Amino acid sequence: MKYDVVIAGAGLFGSVLARELRDNGRRVLVVERRATVGGNIRCEERDGIPVHLYGAHIFHTSIREVWEYVNRFAAFHPFINSPVANYRGELYNLPFNMNTFHQIWGVKTPAEARAKIEEQRAGMAAEPKNLEEQAISLVGKDIYEKLIKGYTEKQWGRDCRELPAFIIRRLPLRFTYDNNYFNDPWQGIPDGGYNGLIESLLDSVEVRLGTDFMADRDYFLRNAKRVVYTGAIDEYFDYELGELEYRGLRFEHERLETDNFQGIAVMNFTDRETPYTRVIEHKHFEPQNAALIEKPVSIVTKEYPAAWKRGDDAYYPVNDAKNQALYEKYLARAASERVIFGGRLGEYKYYDMDKTVERALALSKTLTE
Ligand code: UDP
Repeated sequence: MKYDVVIAGAGLFGSVLARELRDNGRRVLVVERRATVGGNIRCEERDGIPVHLYGAHIFHTSIREVWEYVNRFAAFHPFINSPVANYRGELYNLPFNMNTFHQIWGVKTPAEARAKIEEQRAGMAAEPKNLEEQAISLVGKDIYEKLIKGYTEKQWGRDCRELPAFIIRRLPLRFTYDNNYFNDPWQGIPDGGYNGLIESLLDSVEVRLGTDFMADRDYFLRNAKRVVYTGAIDEYFDYELGELEYRGLRFEHERLETDNFQGIAVMNFTDRETPYTRVIEHKHFEPQNAALIEKPVSIVTKEYPAAWKRGDDAYYPVNDAKNQALYEKYLARAASERVIFGGRLGEYKYYDMDKTVERALALSKTLTE
């Protein structure tokens, strides 16, 4: 056997795993279909501005080990994500907090805000069955209508009553004047974007770019004791049990001759009529870089939700009961093979970057025991 482990996919999961296995003396090969490493955290410098090519990525975690780990490979600057929601031209602070409640209802105290929510959730079932019920019982009808319904239905391409409740619980709800989008104690972005992080993870690892694992699956299986596949599990098994659903995205990047287009890194467009969900102004991800901030040029990206079909980049797993059941069937099918599935696609889970790193570290421990 030429390799101990072949890893398909040079995204964050594959890169952390490869690094750990390599540091533990394993012979590792990473194969990547794309011409670049980094998966969807890939950035590209345009006019000196690191552009998050596949959407805003802000690293945030409550797991000390993960924070210390990523800081070994890149210098992070502090970044607190505080997006603003734009609903038909009205601006609201996110996540849902006292600023939002004041802007929506004019209330000033936590007690007033709680009373408003209580009034607006009257009659809701104790156990929310879907995203709509969950949202209304957390923040009431007004905020649901203005800040959640339109955004979510665009984002997922389906009715809020057909989406799992957990998706909306990703967002904090707090009764303080705090616009921090995440609750995690450690948050930041690598200086200059994510490419440096991935490249230093992979600096002693054999990587073959432009190489499609699936096109040579049998070759790699013959030459490796273990295979870790970070792509979609249904694709690995040639869709033999059926197709899992994913949600796609489409990005439109634009170069503007202005030093400051929208005054914030992320603006969410929460009405149904605006076709995109977010506008990102990349330079604001680098507030520590004064020269970049002052530059009379800015790169702005509109993020459009998109239907997904085979062959497109998959961004979000659709974790409803039907898809979850199919995923479990594939997992059972995989149990008799030498392949392990990992990462957001491989595990069909809505992982953030920190969970992805945590899972990769855990798998590396299992594989080196
Ligand atoms: N969401 C919303 N309004 C917003 C932002 C988010 O309703 O302004 C909902 C929406 O359903 C979305 C979910 O919250 O899918 C999770 O949002 P998050 O920002 O975590 O999405 P991601 O950054 O992973 O795309």
